[in-house]
Amino acid sequence: MLAVLSGGTGTPKLLQGLARLLEQEELTIIVNTAEDLELSGLHVSPDIDTVMYTLAGIVNEETWYGIRRDTFACHDLLERLGEPELLRIGDRDRAVKLYRTLQLQRGKPLSEVTGELCARFRVGAKVLPMSDDRVQTRIDTEAGVMPFHEYWVQRRAVDRVKGMSFEGVENAKPAPGVLDAIKEAQAVIIGPSNPVTSIGPILAMEDIWMALIRNREQVIAVSPIVGKAAVSGPAGELMKGVGYEVSPLGVARFYREYASTLLIDWSDKGLAGKIDEIGIRAVPADLLMPDVSSRVRLAREVLELAGVQK
Ligand code: GDP
Repeated sequence: MLAVLSGGTGTPKLLQGLARLLEQEELTIIVNTAEDLELSGLHVSPDIDTVMYTLAGIVNEETWYGIRRDTFACHDLLERLGEPELLRIGDRDRAVKLYRTLQLQRGKPLSEVTGELCARFRVGAKVLPMSDDRVQTRIDTEAGVMPFHEYWVQRRAVDRVKGMSFEGVENAKPAPGVLDAIKEAQAVIIGPSNPVTSIGPILAMEDIWMALIRNREQVIAVSPIVGKAAVSGPAGELMKGVGYEVSPLGVARFYREYASTLLIDWSDKGLAGKIDEIGIRAVPADLLMPDVSSRVRLAREVLELAGVQK
């Protein structure tokens, strides 16, 4: 079994590749929930939904958000009624979010509801929220402290980042199955997700980072940074904001305690020596995944490093 730590864009691309090479049952995905939010009366778990839709083969690959070819009648009407939504939620996607909200209101934990939804969507992989407890990312900017979606979606990352916190993380427990997955996995993959706001909240949970450190030899990270920039999204600004250089070397410093291997892009091969010096083995590969074949190719490299025969 492979455990994969995931956010909602970069790692799902890799998951698509892994799912072409492995039985989904061999994958356990531990997903960031610190960007979950309440919107239009719904509990939105953006990263869980993207992972689930990806493994179900229905994700909208243009945005890595929502369901492919969804309709937006409800969203459009809400807007006309003067109730604009921060995120554009499609009709079928809304049904999923509404189902989740109703189940949570009935007292079920998020992990149980996620399991039910995955079963309905015939997802064979085990998809686990990092925690059933509420953890929320707060970005500290020059314009004040704000939730991640206000910083990224509403204000388009215009504010200089000074730091961040994960509210509630001190008391949050890993969801059932998370620690066992890390302990029992043949390898743990830290996917190419935003280190600070997607992987950061998972690593901020004490029981999880302790389990990873104990298993460090089996932990392989994939850099979401190629050259001096993130492939997409605000990871660069956020890394800078918490004091890390925006480069694969910065990623290596971020993960040095938890991971023994870091995949970097061939174009960054010149940094391999410096990365090795800080105690992480740098392995060059083609890290850009614009299409399915590049996702499968990178997944194959990851499996080889993990010692999984394919
Ligand atoms: P979020 O939840 O939407 O923020 O998604 P993630 O954190 O999972 O993904 C965002 C990260 O994915 C960014 O830091 C990107 O640099 C990275 N990313 C996106 N596409 C690729 C890709 O093709 N290759 C690599 N290596 N990283 C990617």
